Amino acid sequence: MDVPVLIVGGGPVGLFLAAELRLSGVAPLVVERLAEPDEGKNDDDRGLTARTMQTLDLRGLGDPVRAMTAAALRRLAGLSEQTAGDDPGDLAELMASLGMADFKGDFAMLPFIDRHGELADLAPPLMVMQGEFERLLADRVAELGVEVRRGLELVAVEDETTAVFADGTRISADWLVGCDGGRSTVRRQAGFDFPGTDPSMLARTGIAAYDGDLPLAPGIHRLPDGILAVAPAPSPSMTIEFDPSPFDRDSTLTAEEFQASLRRVSGHDFTVTAIEKPMRITDNARQASTYRRGRVLIAGDAAHVHSPIGGQGLNLGLQDAANLGWKLALVARGVADDELLGTYTAERHPVGAQVLRDSRAESALIRTDAQTEALRGVLAEALDARTMLELSHGLRIRYGDDKNPLVGTFSADTRLLDARARYVGPDVEVVGPWEDRVAVESGSGEGTLIRPDGYLAWAGTDADELRAALRRWFGTPVGNLHSVCR
Ligand SMILES: Cc1cc2nc3c(=O)[nH]c(=O)nc-3n(C[C@H](O)[C@H](O)[C@H](O)COP(=O)(O)OP(=O)(O)OC[C@H]3O[C@@H](n4cnc5c(N)ncnc54)[C@H](O)[C@@H]3O)c2cc1C
Repeated sequence: MDVPVLIVGGGPVGLFLAAELRLSGVAPLVVERLAEPDEGKNDDDRGLTARTMQTLDLRGLGDPVRAMTAAALRRLAGLSEQTAGDDPGDLAELMASLGMADFKGDFAMLPFIDRHGELADLAPPLMVMQGEFERLLADRVAELGVEVRRGLELVAVEDETTAVFADGTRISADWLVGCDGGRSTVRRQAGFDFPGTDPSMLARTGIAAYDGDLPLAPGIHRLPDGILAVAPAPSPSMTIEFDPSPFDRDSTLTAEEFQASLRRVSGHDFTVTAIEKPMRITDNARQASTYRRGRVLIAGDAAHVHSPIGGQGLNLGLQDAANLGWKLALVARGVADDELLGTYTAERHPVGAQVLRDSRAESALIRTDAQTEALRGVLAEALDARTMLELSHGLRIRYGDDKNPLVGTFSADTRLLDARARYVGPDVEVVGPWEDRVAVESGSGEGTLIRPDGYLAWAGTDADELRAALRRWFGTPVGNLHSVCR
């Protein structure tokens, strides 16, 4: 079987990429190892940043996500459902009524509290349940008619883009994309490197059942030997220890191991009788030095891993997919030159590198030795909350270094529901030959060309420059390819 694009991994990044490709005129096939969605993800909350929400808004997915968050908040607060469907109601008002308006986020557990309204324009990351979010993406992919085959586990890649599965199935593709998570088989099989730093901390979490009264008050304790977040079931507890000794990553965290860690960190005689949802988390931080080798690409956790502290992995991955989808579609359709795909690594690698840098800084800053506590005290006074929040929300991302400072920045409040780029300006006849890929809106003054991922590709008044930008980003001007390829 031959497919134009084979996406390995039906997690959030693989699903979002599939929708992006389909909208841009290519029908990918998604293969996923799990026969059924992982029910465990239903209670896993994830924070979506402002840039991710703007990216989802481009395709009309922002409000359904806000509606999910609003419904979850109402459930938690014991409020009745006031809005139905995809209408989130006034989420800001709801959060304010629940006393959540002033907390804007944190860096290494140093909170940013908006006491005087200077940060009113910045909301904290929007919390969603990963399972619910993946269902939304799976529904979108199904509506678009993309095939997702479950229960197929990739075990090898042959002849660059022939995928071999555990049950013997073989699928050949023109392009192969690994969205198969941090331990990506595609990444390994296709020979991508994955340099980085080993863990400097080990967190153990789970819903622990304790014998007798807790020897420490519930809450977060920063202690000389680590960090302890302790709570009776059904709330989760956690320990964080620094400079961990090697452990077997494939083994499951047991009640005994968790108890031993609690005792080491606290010096108290905790007794743990059982543990549910046990998990170990480290700050292993790695990033492939290129996201493309020949006809194989990687996105999401397959391309970069880091500690979940700071809540960036899903955000990075979804934005990788938004960057890659339309470019790969144009190249796979034979409309744009292969070179366009080079801009995927060029644009997304630095963003991932910044997230890894910030994540490593957070790992260093949560340590509990006297020197780090002193540093935390200094930074609590000196950190500029707006800078830190804009960085963590992805609001400072700019692609390229065009002399026009607006080029490469995100064009907020744009809707590109069909994933076509948009030109707004006076030179509409210049854009005509690209109309299958670029929607045109007549306007006066300076023209702007917005890419399908919402970033400004060009701004100016020179028709020749506009033509060059159209060629660079959207390929050869040939008839109505949409009708041929869709
Ligand atoms: C505790 C915790 C908290 C987090 N909090 C946040 C947060 O607040 N904000 C945030 O942005 N991120 C957060 N993250 C990170 C986020 O969950 C990940 O970055 C995100 O899930 C990555 O998505 P992905 O699609 O790239 O990979 P995954 O979600 O790992 O999906 C990969 C998919 O590929 C499939 N697969 C794997 N191997 C194969 C194979 N060989 N063949 C076929 N299919 C395969 C898997 O079954 C899976 O469905 C957190 C992570 C953890 C652990």
